[in-house]
Amino acid sequence: MIMSNSEIQELKSSLSITVVAKRLGLSVERGHFRCFFPERHANGDRTPSVSINEEKGYFKCFVCENVKGDVISLVQMYLGISFAEALKWLKGDAPSIKRDMQKSTAQKPKKQENSERPKFFKEKVIFDFLNLLSPIPPNSKAAWWLAKRHIYKPVWDKVLLRLMDDYHRTSRELLAKYSLEDLQYAGLFNNQGILRYGRHPIIIPYIDEQHRPFFFQARAIEKDVVPKELNLQKAIPFPYNKEVLDGKPGIVYLCEGAIDTLTLLGHNFTAVGVPGVNSFKPEWVEMFKNKKVILCLDNDAAGRASEARISAMLQEAGLETHSFGLLPEGEDINSWFASRQS
Ligand SMILES: [Zn+2]
Repeated sequence: MIMSNSEIQELKSSLSITVVAKRLGLSVERGHFRCFFPERHANGDRTPSVSINEEKGYFKCFVCENVKGDVISLVQMYLGISFAEALKWLKGDAPSIKRDMQKSTAQKPKKQENSERPKFFKEKVIFDFLNLLSPIPPNSKAAWWLAKRHIYKPVWDKVLLRLMDDYHRTSRELLAKYSLEDLQYAGLFNNQGILRYGRHPIIIPYIDEQHRPFFFQARAIEKDVVPKELNLQKAIPFPYNKEVLDGKPGIVYLCEGAIDTLTLLGHNFTAVGVPGVNSFKPEWVEMFKNKKVILCLDNDAAGRASEARISAMLQEAGLETHSFGLLPEGEDINSWFASRQS
């Protein structure tokens, strides 16, 4: 792709450097973002040193001599790519990040046809995303958070839990690999071009028998984050920990949410989870073939109503169901185990 000087100028003037910075995954606040070289700054540049001049389309760090430039240098520097690649990246994205954002959001963006992308494209993107993340590091905040819920290393290794410990790097690497449209299509990026799950660092993949990730749930570990869980923006394909639904006779515990499922697994129960009380789908019934199902949804009004509904569906298919029946009013699996062991 060769662009003339005037074409490059036109591209630059059509873009908001602030929107591009945000799209790169930088958190821009009051016209500033943190420097790419936090080690050169006091406190890892906790008070952002790079200022943006939106009018002039320019950015500049007031400490680092070489951290400055226009929107093209910003993309080059942040993604570590060449000038030509940065142009390509900006051009590919250009239509949806024009200065007149108002106008472009008013005209609904054209829906990408599913058929334009290969089969299992979403799953491939999810797979690549998970590969960018690290396993839960021992003694990390996430490890302690899990341990408090009776979920330990053997379980989190087995179910391939992942931690997004470097949000900006993950965002950057995804954008270097895929177009924003592809990442939005896969449900990882939002309409503003920002990687979701910034405050939900524990990533819980839904994997099938062949260990292919079809879906994931992201979990917050800080107390003030609402909601605590974020699902990938995509239909939930099957219950969590589906691999235990192998068609062989046996007992399976059905509980609410992946975290409860992991707590049960940690106590050697064979368990599967439904992501929310109302997310059990009729087409999942046949996956429970030959199983005796013990329902242990939360003992609150919503949980009990859902339990009755799921139980009716399973029984209609000839399956035996029981209620766990041990949870006191208002409790869930986690609080129950916690109260029994402490
Ligand atoms: Zn700097």
